[in-house]
Amino acid sequence: MKKIVLLLVSTISLLSCNNKAIMKCSDEEALKLIFKSANLSSESYQNLNYLTENFQKRLACYPQGIEASKWAKGIMDNMELDKVFLQEAQVMNWKRGDQELGAIKFKDEVINVNVCALGRGIATKESGLEAKVIEINGLEDLSRFTKDQLKGKILFFNQAMNPELENPFQAYGETAGQRFMGPIMAAEYGAVGAVIRSLTTSIDEFPHTGTTRKAIGEKTVPVVCIATKHADLLSEKLEENPDLTFYFKTNCKNMPDTISYNTIGEITGTDFPNEYIIVGGHLDSWDNSGGAHDDGGGCMQAIEVLRIFKELGYKPKHSIRAVLFMDEEISQGGGREYANQARIQNEKHIFAVESDRGVTSPLGFSIDADQESFEKMISWSDLFKPHEINIFIKGGGGVDIGPLKDNGTALSGLLTDPTHYFDWHHSGNDTFDHVNREDMQKGAAAMASLIYLVDKYGL
Ligand SMILES: [Zn+2]
Repeated sequence: MKKIVLLLVSTISLLSCNNKAIMKCSDEEALKLIFKSANLSSESYQNLNYLTENFQKRLACYPQGIEASKWAKGIMDNMELDKVFLQEAQVMNWKRGDQELGAIKFKDEVINVNVCALGRGIATKESGLEAKVIEINGLEDLSRFTKDQLKGKILFFNQAMNPELENPFQAYGETAGQRFMGPIMAAEYGAVGAVIRSLTTSIDEFPHTGTTRKAIGEKTVPVVCIATKHADLLSEKLEENPDLTFYFKTNCKNMPDTISYNTIGEITGTDFPNEYIIVGGHLDSWDNSGGAHDDGGGCMQAIEVLRIFKELGYKPKHSIRAVLFMDEEISQGGGREYANQARIQNEKHIFAVESDRGVTSPLGFSIDADQESFEKMISWSDLFKPHEINIFIKGGGGVDIGPLKDNGTALSGLLTDPTHYFDWHHSGNDTFDHVNREDMQKGAAAMASLIYLVDKYGL
């Protein structure tokens, strides 16, 4: 009798949906299992802790960037995936050098302020740079001035991100021009240096860095970003004493491109092994923090997607890859090389999703695809509602997966709660303690669910 019962139980489990047989589940049940699997695991969260503590200086060209790639490969090597490999990519080669100095000076008063160089920025002279300051409210404000007025000065671009805008990414986009073009425009006006207000709505003492445009055949000047608290102070002091000077010293170096790696893990598809669905983030991060939200968290979510599928015994029809891109922060060499190799190897990429907006609570997806694929994804949106994932809108996928668009790949970006993202972004404040495990896991589950549906029904 016992034997019959056992046989019956095992036959039912063979025929029915359970967490070892997701293929037999309805879509609702499958998504439930995916979210449950993510919610019960701490593996990726612990890996993020390790990454942010042990590989803090992981710009693409830094030794720790390369070491982080090898470490991430090691994690995937232990997951019984079908393929795990490093993909060589040409990346930028900019090094910060010693920590920067910055000070407001007037008569005998010297106030030290927190500044840091921008990616691709150039060095000052060994003794630093000191000059009078003109405050400019964003690039457009430059037209108020003549070259004579700005010649020999340091331009202080102090346009603040608009805190009133509901979407801080929009506020960031509106002010990022002064960071990207500030030093080149300053040179054009005959100025000798540029100081850029950090792009964040928080008033803090962290310089929030980022990249500035590489000067090719144009002049540029040394540049630093300044913490918002100290930007406000400089502005205040300038009002009191327009003749004050600002001093800063940067030690960075621009060198010829070098080699780093994308890190890739794959579950090979059963029916269409040469058709790919990828989930990614970028493993490089700024060298002033552990890069927890930007974008260590996104990378650990990508690995988590594969872990979930392995745990649920999912055998995808298409090959599914986690891709940890390299060099997003400065020259996007990893993303370009990945798309390039896909073309060379004739790998058809049908769908790519990226998590690079912070691993806070997931809200939905922005989708960059043809109308038919977009509508197909919209038709699945009800399945996400029980998991509080409600937004499916047209919009960009992500910087790293962007080059795949030319290959005809449908792209998507995971949308997450943006409220505090820019409090951490590109600063010493982007630390592991600001990551919530449940939110991060839920984001991974949301991406796994979308991939599951794309794999099952195609686009
Ligand atoms: Zn990022």
